[in-house]
Amino acid sequence: MTRELICINCPMGCMLTAEVEGGEVTKVSGNTCPRGEQYAKTELTAPVRTVTTTMKTAGGKPVPVKTKAPIPKDKIFDVVAAIKSATAPLPVKMGDVVLENAAGTGVDIVSARSMNNA
Ligand code: SF4
Repeated sequence: MTRELICINCPMGCMLTAEVEGGEVTKVSGNTCPRGEQYAKTELTAPVRTVTTTMKTAGGKPVPVKTKAPIPKDKIFDVVAAIKSATAPLPVKMGDVVLENAAGTGVDIVSARSMNNA
């Protein structure tokens, strides 16, 4: 089976063509660099995404947060739900862990901005 996809690793947006046999990617073409081949293999077998959203704080104003590492694509809903049900402590510094092991993924949620008590 042939699959076509666009590499999202950089603004070049290379159009990739991947050959998939038995659930495995056997050949990738159209990539300008090795990251495209790796992207196609991951995307077609175990897709992952970095999630960015906001979390409420004890002060009421939401703080931007993100996953510390990419998570499995099929866990995005659960991770966002876990973030939405949590409250970040204040003050918080950029990079501080505000939620550990989000939705059992083993990936922490970190603050994407510093915020004081106000
Ligand atoms: S294959 Fe390489 S050059 Fe092309 S979009 Fe992906 S990262 Fe960028």
